[in-house]
Amino acid sequence: MTIRRIMVIGAGQMGGGIAQVAAQAGLQVVLNDIDQGLIEKRLAFIDKLLLKSIEKERITAAEKADILSRLTPSTSLDDGAGVDFIVEAATENMALKEKIFRALDECAKPDTILATNTSSLPITEIAAVTKRPEQVIGMHFMNPVPVMELVEVIRGIATSDATYASVKALAEQMGKTPVEVNDYPGFISNRVLMPMINEAIYCVYEGVAEPEAIDTVMKLGMNHPMGPLTLADFIGLDTCLAIMEVLYAGFADSKYRPCPLLRKMVKAGWLGKKSGRGFFSYL
Ligand code: NAD
Repeated sequence: MTIRRIMVIGAGQMGGGIAQVAAQAGLQVVLNDIDQGLIEKRLAFIDKLLLKSIEKERITAAEKADILSRLTPSTSLDDGAGVDFIVEAATENMALKEKIFRALDECAKPDTILATNTSSLPITEIAAVTKRPEQVIGMHFMNPVPVMELVEVIRGIATSDATYASVKALAEQMGKTPVEVNDYPGFISNRVLMPMINEAIYCVYEGVAEPEAIDTVMKLGMNHPMGPLTLADFIGLDTCLAIMEVLYAGFADSKYRPCPLLRKMVKAGWLGKKSGRGFFSYL
């Protein structure tokens, strides 16, 4: 299926980035959120990013105007009735995503593909609340979306080959590199990344070394652009804990147990950059 008109649910940091990149790729985009004010803020933010692109001579003023004209704000899921593809990037909460997918299944055209940008929730379970599980798929963009090249395309147990092929082509049209993944906890990205971060936290917990030393070893010794503890602070320690809990519960394997220090810091409200304090200080 050729995808021309899409809807993005959630105008947060991920939804906003997906909408921007899709509009830059020539797609008509309906940008939906429950909060009209948030959509306006997001569109103003995209406007600012595009201005920077003009300054860097990556796009012209006319192209910027074209891109913005392809973005249509919406506060009603019923606006999904007219699109070929819908990607949900609302808050990471299973009950909320199930509610959205039930509603989209009712209002979207029968051939519309429904995707979710979830970082950790099972695609198969989200698909199961719809009457079209073969047309439900994970499309996991990385943050920040305009910069990061990867998209994990996650097949639920029922996702059809045709749905996968359409979403792979869409990711490529958006200038991304799609990677095919089957639906198991953490997909590839978080299954590999989070245990490494968790292990770095165990190193702090057990007094192996100071956070600065652990990050230096991984940066200079393994050529990582950012140490795992700095990265954890950027992602948010609450998000890191939530993903470790998904791995731990999903595989019922003690190798994924979240470090007690991670739990303690989250309980203290030390969530990393966003709260001003994590393994490092941002005050
Ligand atoms: P965010 O908090 O920035 O944005 C979420 C948006 O969803 C908010 O604007 C909120 O108003 C909106 N929303 C909530 N309920 C809604 C509803 N019923 N209908 C429409 N909109 C609704 O969150 P985010 O960081 O953009 O994350 C969104 C999704 O992307 C999550 O599933 C998250 O796991 C996933 N994700 C996040 C990252 C990341 O690094 N932040 C990376 C990859 C994937």
